[in-house]
Amino acid sequence: MIRRIAVLTSGGDAPGMNACLRAVIRAGLFHGISMYVIYEGLRGLVEGKIEQVDKDFTQDIINRGGTIIRSARLPEFKDPKIVKRAANILQDFEIDALVGIGGDGTFRGLNDLSKYGIKVVGIPGTIDNDVGSTEQTIGFSTALNTICSCIDKLKDTCGSHQRCSLIEVMGRHCGDLAMYAALAEGAEGVICVEHPLKEDQLFRKLRKMKAQNKSHAIIVVSENLLDINELAKKIEEETGFDTRTEVLGRLQRGGSPSAEDRILAARMGARSIDIVLDKDSGSRIIGMRGGQIVDLPIEEAVEMKHEHTHGLRQLIDMLQ
Ligand code: ATP
Repeated sequence: MIRRIAVLTSGGDAPGMNACLRAVIRAGLFHGISMYVIYEGLRGLVEGKIEQVDKDFTQDIINRGGTIIRSARLPEFKDPKIVKRAANILQDFEIDALVGIGGDGTFRGLNDLSKYGIKVVGIPGTIDNDVGSTEQTIGFSTALNTICSCIDKLKDTCGSHQRCSLIEVMGRHCGDLAMYAALAEGAEGVICVEHPLKEDQLFRKLRKMKAQNKSHAIIVVSENLLDINELAKKIEEETGFDTRTEVLGRLQRGGSPSAEDRILAARMGARSIDIVLDKDSGSRIIGMRGGQIVDLPIEEAVEMKHEHTHGLRQLIDMLQ
């Protein structure tokens, strides 16, 4: 019999986490369950920062960015003693199940916790879209829209000065933000793990554009791959294009979630309660596949690698 469910947000914050929190809490209350929040992610769990909440707690948060219950990182959660302490705290509060909204790292932590008899459900909330068990994470759509709106603005100024702009976006292990932004912006180039830099090809293209008097060139680059200032210098030397760099940084995390993220958050949040109430389902991770909300056993989900959309790279190359 499930009486008490707790929910936390963990890892990097993502727009839509609040909308998801709202959905989890309201769906739980709808089924007559006592709902709890854990402040500051897995670290807050180990410190016992747990509080019972009612429907009022979720008022006016659907459109708010960040996470009102905050997030934190706790690298020590890899230590079984710390995981055991977390499990004991949940037992002390008589919590029957835990819903965690976060990325791959969070799911690994939840998986460890599930081995102590705690039923856990993971919901993918992270801007990078780097979770293997889902085609889309909560926060990705909003971050992509933010990047596109920044690039739109940069295009205005680049075009006025006939410049090349190198724009660094998040996604160190997964180039989805870079690739989808490049596609949505009709960028002249994209550099990410799935689409590595081919210098000669890039310089040839930019030289041609310069000769044709093109007003601007936009190149989207994933973080952590190369030094964009070095590359900008090289582009200037090799192509004569006046080149500037922009690092969008944490701007990409903020802002009110897109309608798409809010809807995904509502669907996944409600599903988490269905899973907890299903006495035959063990601990699971929720995802989206082919537009449908799905869930997978947690041990299987944490081993999956994210595959980028079939044909995306070819489409970007063809339309450049
Ligand atoms: P994002 O990718 O958006 O930052 P994430 O959930 O992957 O989200 P991490 O910082 O990797 O973010 O992980 C969040 C927390 O999960 C960590 O601070 C740690 O407490 C726990 N965690 C991460 N990796 C593991 C692991 N291998 N085993 C157990 N716990 C882990």
